[in-house]
Amino acid sequence: MTNILRVGDLVKHFTIGGGVLDRVFGKPAKVIRAVDGVSFDISAGETLGLVGESGCGKSTVGRSILRLHEPTAGSIMLDGREVSKASQHALRPLRQHLQVVFQDPFASLNPRRTVGQSVAEPIANFGLAKDAELRAEVESLFVRVGLRGDQIDRYPHEFSGGQRQRIGIARALGTKPKLIILDEPVSALDVSVQAQVINLLVDLQQEFGLAYLFIAHDLAVVQHISARVAVMYLGRIVEIADKKSLFEKPHHPYTKALLSAVPSIDPDAASKRIVLSGDIPSPANPPSGCRFRTRCPIAQAICAEQEPPLQSQAAGHDAACHFAGPGPLLAS
Ligand code: ADP
Ligand code: MG
Repeated sequence: MTNILRVGDLVKHFTIGGGVLDRVFGKPAKVIRAVDGVSFDISAGETLGLVGESGCGKSTVGRSILRLHEPTAGSIMLDGREVSKASQHALRPLRQHLQVVFQDPFASLNPRRTVGQSVAEPIANFGLAKDAELRAEVESLFVRVGLRGDQIDRYPHEFSGGQRQRIGIARALGTKPKLIILDEPVSALDVSVQAQVINLLVDLQQEFGLAYLFIAHDLAVVQHISARVAVMYLGRIVEIADKKSLFEKPHHPYTKALLSAVPSIDPDAASKRIVLSGDIPSPANPPSGCRFRTRCPIAQAICAEQEPPLQSQAAGHDAACHFAGPGPLLAS
């Protein structure tokens, strides 16, 4: 299968502080290691779920692929072409095939424009349709995402959250992309509406052969839609596998802890629930060795000394843990 996206050793560090006022107030410059060496690929028409707690670097991965952030290091190949260092001009033809849907469609829909105008904008920008043909195209996109063609002349505030997210999806579909980055697309929606929007995304994927990078902080949300799942912790991927293998035989203690928090997966979950102590450490100052060790129930001395590499545990299943293995997670 051909890779639509190939991310290799992606690094994105943010430097904050260190300015004149920061010095006055005793804030030296510090480096936030938001993404610290992340690699994965996505095949044409495939969905990769990317999960992890808030602040682990998921959006920074997505925004770096979109070049909304300049990557600090690493390679991003979109459809066989390197985009991490391409000029904005060279990126333009690739942009047509790479679209994004954000968590909050209110932020991406201009409140002073009709929703039809917002959906038409990228189609017009790439010169794909104009005039009556453009209007007809926008109407048919509305119908395709479960809205009505006669709603295109309304404004964003006239729609519910779920409808606005459908409009955001219609906008992303307009340029006939090959890959859509979905950054927590259902996290702001009610649970019942979440399922409807995920089902719509599944249908659209089959119809148009779309590939998705589906970002969520919750494993349950990505379970239905993903072919493979990558789990991130503090700027690194700690486990990546096909969905069945990851959900049925997780190897990394962090994945096991996340899974134990998904009630639908195991009826006895309450008794087996693994509660992670404390908050995620600051990416400005990650723990030595394994970054997860300060919250890991099975950490040993070696975990503070050596960072475990992401290693193959089974076919198509990699995890980064000195004590990786399937089976229950027993506290040491
Ligand atoms: P997630 O999407 O997993 O919640 P993010 O990618 O948004 O995580 O953030 C990862 C880390 O990078 C966080 O510590 C966040 O505060 C930091 N961060 C994100 N964007 C910026 C930025 N523009 N400047 C400085 N720090 C940032
Ligand atoms: Mg995010």
